[in-house]
Amino acid sequence: MRILGKQFVLGETIQGALDNAAPDMREGYRFSFDMLGECARTARDADRYFRRYTEAASAIATWAGAPEARTEDALHARSGLSVKLSALHPRYAASQEARLARELIPRLRNLALQMRDAWLPLTVDAEEAERLALSLSMLEPLLADPALSGWNGLGIAVQAYSKRALPLIAWLARVAEETGRRIPVRLVKGAYWDSEIKWAQEAGLAGYPVFTRKVNTDVAYLAAARALLVRPDCFYPQFATHNAHTIAAVADLAGDGPYEFQRLHGMGQGVHRAVVEDLKKPCRIYAPVGGHRDLLAYLVRRLLENGANTSFVHRLADDEAPIAAIIADPVEKAARLPEKANPAIPAPPDLYGGARRNSLGLPLWDEATRASLLDGIGRALEQPATAAPIVCGNEIETGPVTQVTSPHDGRVVVGTCRDADSAAIDAALEAAGRGAQDWDGLGGAARASILDRAAELFEAARPDLMRCWYARPERRWPMPRATCARRSTSCATTRRKHAPSSRTR
Ligand SMILES: Cc1cc2nc3c(=O)[nH]c(=O)nc-3n(C[C@H](O)[C@H](O)[C@H](O)COP(=O)(O)OP(=O)(O)OC[C@H]3O[C@@H](n4cnc5c(N)ncnc54)[C@H](O)[C@@H]3O)c2cc1C
Repeated sequence: MRILGKQFVLGETIQGALDNAAPDMREGYRFSFDMLGECARTARDADRYFRRYTEAASAIATWAGAPEARTEDALHARSGLSVKLSALHPRYAASQEARLARELIPRLRNLALQMRDAWLPLTVDAEEAERLALSLSMLEPLLADPALSGWNGLGIAVQAYSKRALPLIAWLARVAEETGRRIPVRLVKGAYWDSEIKWAQEAGLAGYPVFTRKVNTDVAYLAAARALLVRPDCFYPQFATHNAHTIAAVADLAGDGPYEFQRLHGMGQGVHRAVVEDLKKPCRIYAPVGGHRDLLAYLVRRLLENGANTSFVHRLADDEAPIAAIIADPVEKAARLPEKANPAIPAPPDLYGGARRNSLGLPLWDEATRASLLDGIGRALEQPATAAPIVCGNEIETGPVTQVTSPHDGRVVVGTCRDADSAAIDAALEAAGRGAQDWDGLGGAARASILDRAAELFEAARPDLMRCWYARPERRWPMPRATCARRSTSCATTRRKHAPSSRTR
């Protein structure tokens, strides 16, 4: 950890990092300091990370001194901060949007005001795909905030591996037009690729949020670069990559307009020296700052990236790889592909090949999914839910009826259930004994297809089956208390699926 930490972390404290940055600063590099830490688990963690960001902002301001002029050029020539929103709140999830608007946006705003006063840039890092829309809803009010007007230092990272990169740039352009801002956009390829693939499979999504071939990400990067460069009125482009081909292609596309390149501390020193010395373009170094305790998530991303055999850095270090292959034009390579998606990475529903279909998940972070689910649940709630024993296809009409309450709120009655009496149980056991032979006689394949069909019906009836999760007290329907016992539904599966994610990332 110490060796790797030394390679990728500029300093354990902001003061140490500023001291260590001095030699590169003298050579003309600018910095974006990242206070290591993400995915705050507790309010105390988030407070600690926020304090470190504000202290870092003060330290950078003192170190940078007063700007020569409060112009946009001067702003971009100065060093600043990069922030991960997941570090600033322990509940940084789509389900908490209203709370985040009250608690996280003010934090981000304070930091932005501090950076604006010191005339320093602030960039919001890109994190997981499921948090993209959420990050935009945190950023949008600040881009429109009159208290921050005149300071075009609030930027965002855009991931080219995301299938939403181009629509996102179009959205940002619209916000820039409406607010009269020029938004600094750091274009990256994306650091969570392996995890995004796994999460999409685990969540049973209909498709991947990211491209599945490296070459498609490379092409998307160039398309996104062009989309940024053609709108100098809206964007200050910042191209973050260690790939020499990507750097050369961007430099070719960009011409003389104002933009910068970026690299990570501890990576790409050689190629970026050429950026500064030969291309005469500015380069910013993204420099993590912090102790070993907060290093792991960042380090794992760097190790995955550098270890991947598709990575430019990895291939460059491979003496066997012909240089022509390493610098091949991604647009030509992609155009030649008969299948644009990677056939070795089947879509999440087809994960198990012909053996069985993967169960469909619910990406609840996606607003459209939430809206259609809630709509279905709303319709299901129009009708009271009733359950009763069914024996040989016939509903049993004797036996006590009980009210069933919601597992998350015992005051909410979600339906009624008729319990089987002993006559119904005897009839069911007898029928099961008779039916077992027929069921066995069907054979495994026929039984499996019946179970598959049952699974499909469960999936189709999901809003109906999930109504207890969403039922509200006002949805009760009358049932004379005296005659009814109460019991709680056991929707363990439903509850598990919809609990806030506690994945460690
Ligand atoms: C200054 C700086 C800041 C950064 N900030 C962020 C940030 O805020 N958020 C963030 O997510 N990342 C960030 N990154 C990391 C960045 O996203 C890339 O992971 C890293 O730069 C490697 O890309 P490359 O162009 O340098 O190398 P290359 O080797 O050309 O590209 C590697 C990238 O290709 C993509 N890739 C690999 N395999 C596949 C595949 N099979 N299908 C599709 N795509 C694939 C992945 O994105 C992978 O990282 C930052 C990088 C830099 C330099």
